[in-house]
Amino acid sequence: MYGFFECSKCKAKWESAKVYSKNKAKTLYYGQECKSCKIMCQPYRVEETMCSLCGEVARTCGCDKTRHTDPNKPHRSDLCEKCRSGNRCQ
Ligand SMILES: [Zn+2]
Ligand SMILES: [Zn+2]
Ligand SMILES: [Zn+2]
Repeated sequence: MYGFFECSKCKAKWESAKVYSKNKAKTLYYGQECKSCKIMCQPYRVEETMCSLCGEVARTCGCDKTRHTDPNKPHRSDLCEKCRSGNRCQ
């Protein structure tokens, strides 16, 4: 899933393509820490990751997903609640 985060303290905003729900009902998500305040934030909005190649929902479209990885925006595992729980994001 694709999530939009806003820090409740410094109001910094960021987005992440590595947002996973904690439960099947998708009411709880793994948080990510604000890199300046070091507080865990929940996404305020979560949507399906759309495929940049075909425009369909990336989870089901069947395109080569290795090309979705943006080398300029590496996933910050050190700030990610899921990665730090030992269950790393794919
Ligand atoms: Zn902050
Ligand atoms: Zn696609
Ligand atoms: Zn992660």
